[in-house]
Amino acid sequence: MFTLSLKYDIVDKFKCDGCGLCCKNINCKHLTEDNKCSIYEIRPDICNVDKGYEMFFKDKMSKQVWYAINYKACDDLKASKKQEENK
Ligand code: SF4
Repeated sequence: MFTLSLKYDIVDKFKCDGCGLCCKNINCKHLTEDNKCSIYEIRPDICNVDKGYEMFFKDKMSKQVWYAINYKACDDLKASKKQEENK
């Protein structure tokens, strides 16, 4: 069962911590060795959580839900990484 926490406050901007795990997860060729996007200024709109929301999802869900989905994805990727490291 998928549970979504709405514990995150809505602020002006999605708080990306720059871990690079989402980019790694899709094996993006633009991710550098030090987890930076080599095309950051011109990255695809879908890579920008706030822009992606405005362009593709604002008619489908609230921003609060959109942020919660994205933060959950971040948490899941970090948990998977931790599991891998502990094997
Ligand atoms: S283009 Fe940049 S932000 Fe988008 S997935 Fe690739 S590395 Fe990440």
